[in-house]
Amino acid sequence: MTTFEALGLDARLVQATDALGYKNPTPIQEQAIPVLLSGTKDLVGLAQTGTGKTAAFGLPLLHVIDEKQKYPQALVVCPTRELCLQIVNEIEAFKKFIPGMYVAAVYGGTSITQQIRELKRGVQVVVATPGRLIDLIERKAINLEQIKYVVLDEADEMLNMGFQEDIEFILQNTPNRESTWLFSATMPPEIRRVSKRYMKEPVEITVGKVNTANKNIDHQYFVTSAQHRYETLKRLIDFNPGIYGIIFTRTKADAQEIAEKLTREGYDIDALHGDLTQVQRDKVMGEFREKTLQLLIATDVAARGIDVQGITHVINYELPDDVEVYTHRSGRTGRAGNTGVCMSIIHTREMGKMRQIQSIVQATFNKLEIPSGKDVCRKQFYHFMDKLLTVDITQNDYDVYLPMLEEKFADMSKEDILKRVTAMEFDRFLKYYENAGDLNARDTRRERTDRSGNDRKFGRDGRDGGRDSRFGRDRDGGAPRERKEYGGKQNTTRLFVNLGTKDGFYKASFLQFILDMSDLRKDVLGRIDMKEMNSWIEIDKTAARQMITSIDGKNYRGRKIRMNEADSRR
Ligand code: AMP
Repeated sequence: MTTFEALGLDARLVQATDALGYKNPTPIQEQAIPVLLSGTKDLVGLAQTGTGKTAAFGLPLLHVIDEKQKYPQALVVCPTRELCLQIVNEIEAFKKFIPGMYVAAVYGGTSITQQIRELKRGVQVVVATPGRLIDLIERKAINLEQIKYVVLDEADEMLNMGFQEDIEFILQNTPNRESTWLFSATMPPEIRRVSKRYMKEPVEITVGKVNTANKNIDHQYFVTSAQHRYETLKRLIDFNPGIYGIIFTRTKADAQEIAEKLTREGYDIDALHGDLTQVQRDKVMGEFREKTLQLLIATDVAARGIDVQGITHVINYELPDDVEVYTHRSGRTGRAGNTGVCMSIIHTREMGKMRQIQSIVQATFNKLEIPSGKDVCRKQFYHFMDKLLTVDITQNDYDVYLPMLEEKFADMSKEDILKRVTAMEFDRFLKYYENAGDLNARDTRRERTDRSGNDRKFGRDGRDGGRDSRFGRDRDGGAPRERKEYGGKQNTTRLFVNLGTKDGFYKASFLQFILDMSDLRKDVLGRIDMKEMNSWIEIDKTAARQMITSIDGKNYRGRKIRMNEADSRR
């Protein structure tokens, strides 16, 4: 095992790794650092978060930069504000023993003047998200003339987020760039293209945790709005009548509250969280293990170490904060050669996170529609029929009761008896779902599919796979289901506007701004999609013109606002 010193790093950087408690370089550091120190111009590193890639580029970057020159020499571009801050924090720690070395974070959604001030102080390293960086370039508030090193971190994620043109713009605006180091978890063709176009014979390094993807797990996700999360959970449970599963929440309070609500509504569920005594905990676990309890709802901490066989479904009521936690959660199912399903309930803003999880789990994720009330009823119905067909009648001597039954039901047809049995089991259920609404969050721009292009309507669900396929044929063969517009708005159109979070807007303030400008009421609006640079507004067709004429061409903080119908753009 090698050391940081042996990799050829400046003594001050080695001292920093010591101070951080890094004992040995990680595989990507071991491979990348000597290559980058040897003067290699371009590098492609295929590595995921958690492999130590920030140090793999951060340490050599600080080694090759001249801290005596007070202008930006290195630019690190990354997809999100969170990552930007994380990288800056790490670089701050690496440069601890190099006086005179400065690093600045540049990202949207916060005061640009503050960032401009910081840049003027004479920083050598700039870590930026694409939108804000372009804004700064356009304002001539950043000097990229002397940038020698450009690092693109999580390049695939930046492309997924629609930053392709921005990345190219940035690469084109660093005229004296000598080296480009690109890091990405995956290598889609678009990244190959960027690397072909802007890099010269890059050295390619691949590291990865061994692909631990469990092929027996079917990963599914369902997109809904935040207020429909609970209803969606119920529907997923109801759509899987034979479920034996664990539901994960982020907080104890959620686990407790949902367990109570579902219990009141007749579900066989209990909660496991840190506030339980050991006795309570053992009781819940005992029941779950013996399958007298069908569902367990737990926080990650409480579920640590649970090893129960035969779990058919894991449901993420919310995605975990830490992507790695997803793997732990999903790994509760699909054990010992069994198949299992891991379902995640997400809302549209979590698509980026979902993709991040996909790239780490390295499995195919299927975006499924949340079943309709009718789907659930049919599924339950078939399940009930199966139960009726397979119920064990050999355990007791029912022949003893037969004469009595025959006499009682002598005048009743077989059909009527079946109807009555069904009514007993189903009345409440059918009533509940009769008028149940569509819980899917609809993206009216275009249906976004997951990276693999999968967009399946219904899942194989572990146990009921065979039965389910009947529905699959039914639906796929029939007419496509009616697609309701988001929020039930039928006569809407979408507007594009070149304002976004980088302009300091949050959704609420943005809404207020466009309504104030156009003198329109909130109810003409549908869904608002905000990105860093641009936003899309769903609006009643009748109000669209008024909004465009009152906003398009106006100035906002010295910049001309461009607003037009989204589909007429370009
Ligand atoms: P990254 O992949 O850059 O997000 O790094 C993942 C985590 O590993 C960070 O918390 C780093 O501080 C830590 N880390 C990076 N390199 C090492 C190392 N050589 N030894 C121990 N921890 C490390």
